[in-house]
Amino acid sequence: MLWPADYSNRWTIAEEVSLAGVGLHSGLTSRVTLAPSTSGGLSMGLMDASPVPLHHRLAREQCLCTALQLPTGLVRTVEHLLAALAGVGVSDVQIHVEGQEIPLLDGSALPWVDAVATVGLHPLGGQRFPLVVRETACVQAGDSHVLALPYEGLRLSVAVNYPSRAIGQQFYEVELNPGQFVEHVAPARTFGFEEQLDALRSAGLIQGGSLQNALVCNARHWLNPPLRFTNEPVRHKLLDLIGDLALVGCFPQGHISAYRAGHALHTQLATRLAMSCSAPTTAPNR
Ligand SMILES: [Zn+2]
Repeated sequence: MLWPADYSNRWTIAEEVSLAGVGLHSGLTSRVTLAPSTSGGLSMGLMDASPVPLHHRLAREQCLCTALQLPTGLVRTVEHLLAALAGVGVSDVQIHVEGQEIPLLDGSALPWVDAVATVGLHPLGGQRFPLVVRETACVQAGDSHVLALPYEGLRLSVAVNYPSRAIGQQFYEVELNPGQFVEHVAPARTFGFEEQLDALRSAGLIQGGSLQNALVCNARHWLNPPLRFTNEPVRHKLLDLIGDLALVGCFPQGHISAYRAGHALHTQLATRLAMSCSAPTTAPNR
């Protein structure tokens, strides 16, 4: 599959494609059907309801995932699907969800990328105009923060720092384009900590989590190696950031830098970017 060179043009998918699987938190099976669209950006509908355009205002803070409040119900754990679509350069698509949560599949964005690759992309012939970061913006909570900085391109940097020696300090940075996304970011799987699993399960979360769809570590090592990358956790955090930024509707032209951040800060920054940035008079050549 030859992916677009960058994010400057509009693309949809060439044909309908669907995937089914278990939701990470609900443990329930759901099905997602992606359908070609010629306008309206990314849109999502529950069951037979008409899809509504995705927007950062639909984001709802949830423990360990990003949820979207649609007119007919809440859909949880949207971030890996949205990262896959935005990451490969799909600008316009309808997402039909039968269920309450997007399937976790293997815990990464790769199954969604593969699904899109099986049907291919279709050019829509128009240009996309990124939101230009004109001044530094920062959202923070405690010692976690996400920064948006002016930059002539699209650079994403993420750093994490966990007490577990299995992860420790990790840093990953990428000049994002669809090829880089597919090769270096999409395969990174979600991860968790063994000592938190019982408490999360008791709270009704991660009912669909298993050693087959999430990396799990204790204080010293991974319970289910091998990893796909030595720094797979920080790459997954970058994947989550891309999924949450997708709610802005297009990638920013700028440098986004996240330190120990999660979905709540990501979506706060998406909201800040959507409110404070403006489109350039001409599309940047990147
Ligand atoms: Zn994730």
